[in-house]
Amino acid sequence: MARKKSEEESSEIEAVDLISLLSTPETTDSYEIELSVPEQDLDLIALGKEELREEAVKLAKAKTLLPNKEVRPIASQTLSSPTPLRPSSITPTQTISIAKPKVTSSKTINCLDALQGYENDSFEQIIKDISACQRCGLCKTRKNVVPGIGNTKAKLVLIGEAPGADEDIQGIPFVGKAGQHLDKIIAAAGFNKKDLYICNILKCRPPNNRDPNNDEMRVCTPFLQRQLALIKPKMIACLGNIACHYVIGPSMPGITRLRGQWFDSIFGIPTFAMYHPSYLIRSASREKGSPNWQMWQDIRALKAKYDESGK
Ligand code: SF4
Repeated sequence: MARKKSEEESSEIEAVDLISLLSTPETTDSYEIELSVPEQDLDLIALGKEELREEAVKLAKAKTLLPNKEVRPIASQTLSSPTPLRPSSITPTQTISIAKPKVTSSKTINCLDALQGYENDSFEQIIKDISACQRCGLCKTRKNVVPGIGNTKAKLVLIGEAPGADEDIQGIPFVGKAGQHLDKIIAAAGFNKKDLYICNILKCRPPNNRDPNNDEMRVCTPFLQRQLALIKPKMIACLGNIACHYVIGPSMPGITRLRGQWFDSIFGIPTFAMYHPSYLIRSASREKGSPNWQMWQDIRALKAKYDESGK
């Protein structure tokens, strides 16, 4: 019995490794290949038949990935230039409206402490302030703060919930396994990572990768607000259930229902809900309807809106 379990575990690990073999982060069509290579081809590759791997990749490249009619239509919303965030415009409670009628039409969420006195703010100052921050207990366990990285004039900002172990060590968001998966997805969709800004709500790692709690997010959010106020993005992509619920509203349905839709958020910037890449790497399936398949629909919808929104 114990032996059987160990065999199962080892084949599971092998399957994940094979997927990464098929999709190096540098390959722009890698995610497409992942989604297109049938499971049985992956099994043949697992048997060590290298030539079959090449065949499978060729086959995947030749296929049209997914017909457009399968793409779930996104809520129509004009992505006009956002109203610049002003600290004085943020009140402790804020009403947000939801773009799609099947989701509750409006929610009042407990929001943020008002920000004041950042007229001459800069990224250097924000990083200094984060590094010195002791507003919550995570300052005691962090190795490094993880402010964010990318283009400070980005049109699109990707926001997750909190740094993990690799991020804590390097001080850079989304550098672990999940981050590499995200790199692959955004490259496959045609984004240039250098054009984006990537960060988390929390700037310090919760111990043992536990979920951030609301108090930690509330006291840390002013840093994110200051970043957004400087970047002035046209849109945000929010990654994962926790981050989406925090920025869109706590009474919203789960991420499986939110994903692929645009919402107003506490930041006053159109926000697109998506899965967190760490959820995606737990599922090896690329079948139609699987989380990875859904993510592919969503990232392409996001890219289409990104392209439509101009400079
Ligand atoms: S998580 Fe945010 S609020 Fe908490 S110590 Fe780190 S920077 Fe400060």
